[in-house]
Amino acid sequence: MRNLKSTTLLFELSQPGRRGASLPPCDVPAPEVSELIPAAARAGGPPPLPEVAEPEVIRHFTNLSTLNMSVDTHFYPLGSCTMKYNSKRNERMAALPGIADLHPLAPEETIQGLLALLYELQLMLGEIAGLPAVSLQPAAGAHGELTALMVAAAHFRHLGQARTKVLAPDSAHGTNPASAKMAGFDFVTVKSNASGFVDMDDLAAKLDDQIAVFMITNPSTLGLFDRQVSEIARIVHAKGGLIYLDGANMNAILGIARPGDFGADMMHYNPHKTFSGPHGGGGPGAGPICVTETLGAYLPTPVVEQRNGHYVLATNRPLSIGRVRSFFGNVGVLVRAYCYLRTHGPEGLKAVSENAVLNANYLMSRVKHILPVPHGERCMHEFVATAAPLKKNHGVTAMDLAKRLLDFGFHAPTVYFPLTVPEAMMIEPTETESKETMDAFAEALFRITEESPELLHDAPHSTLVSRPDEVQAARKPIMKWTAEVGPAS
Ligand SMILES: *Cc1c(COP(=O)(O)O)cnc(C)c1O
Repeated sequence: MRNLKSTTLLFELSQPGRRGASLPPCDVPAPEVSELIPAAARAGGPPPLPEVAEPEVIRHFTNLSTLNMSVDTHFYPLGSCTMKYNSKRNERMAALPGIADLHPLAPEETIQGLLALLYELQLMLGEIAGLPAVSLQPAAGAHGELTALMVAAAHFRHLGQARTKVLAPDSAHGTNPASAKMAGFDFVTVKSNASGFVDMDDLAAKLDDQIAVFMITNPSTLGLFDRQVSEIARIVHAKGGLIYLDGANMNAILGIARPGDFGADMMHYNPHKTFSGPHGGGGPGAGPICVTETLGAYLPTPVVEQRNGHYVLATNRPLSIGRVRSFFGNVGVLVRAYCYLRTHGPEGLKAVSENAVLNANYLMSRVKHILPVPHGERCMHEFVATAAPLKKNHGVTAMDLAKRLLDFGFHAPTVYFPLTVPEAMMIEPTETESKETMDAFAEALFRITEESPELLHDAPHSTLVSRPDEVQAARKPIMKWTAEVGPAS
């Protein structure tokens, strides 16, 4: 019998003539195709689509969906990604016909409710950031970085200053240098010191009047809050540069510290991380940005404004960098973020961060006996452990541990990031996990480190696909099925 829990493709299930739907014959006279589409533009025959019945299609996709891990099925401590539980209530709100069925070109007066919601979201995001001017347009965190750097570039152009450099610490996410390059800047790496914070001497050495922006992730990707940030802002501002806060780690400081108060001029949020939007499958996410009043002049348009009790999509910004995204951004994700913020309120948001930090410190206190944590006695909402001693003594790598965790029913933590920690395992439990779940995860890690290295090198043993060739998969992906290539092996 065919194992339905397999990667058998619909193409391989196909039987000539089998159909998933039967339509009545067409009862209106059909014009000859040749009258409508010139021969040169027509295909020689129908495309070779799989011919399958409805139950086969449903079983195929339902079974495929169970081959993966998700926040709804497993603990997912993927550091930096904040894989908190996405409450189903926000999904229902975003799916309400009055929201989901709106046409993006509907006249403003017919979508006042949605515009009011987006306007209030702008206010809430600006308040949490301590930066009052907001654009909801960017489609993801990385896109928010790019947009903000374009805003900075427009600002310096307007001032008549030719600044060429964007700086960021070596622990930064890869999107930081990528965004800097895409926005037309040269990228310069600043070293971290032994404690994992910005090396102030290295920063001072690289600061000159060519600096446009210093990008900092704070709390950092090591899960540490860099208390030097105000001093960094002071010296960068003194050189005429701007501070960009990569807000991916806002889950640690909601309602506790505001980036605008500790020196940031611009930041992005990742609502799919911090505000429990669903992520995965490549999106959609969102990457709203908040900037100072001055920089607000350059934000993409339209921005939602309130005029005499009416909400309008305002384009009255002559210095604007223009659009970065169709319509007003990924509204479905923004609606979920709005529901999340309204549900928790100011006190609730603070509790979110306090519990996220508490959970991470609890899990760190259990894990550090198995895997040392090189930086910090305490952490914020995540921590970075290292498998370097295990590798040295037993040849067991962070990748081996990550793969074996799958057999124990846990999604792996983030591995090999940040680059400043060898054999890094970046672990972020989030506030939505229970003590029992974290205990079970620590227990599994402990049991794995007692297992034989051979067993771990071949892990996972319980998944359909064990160890794909990751280099080949990234460099030479096979994106389509053909009879010659056959099924992915
Ligand atoms: C996730 C993340 C980003 C990129 O955000 P996306 O929404 O995935 O584009 C940038 N910086 C850090 C530190 C992140 O964790």
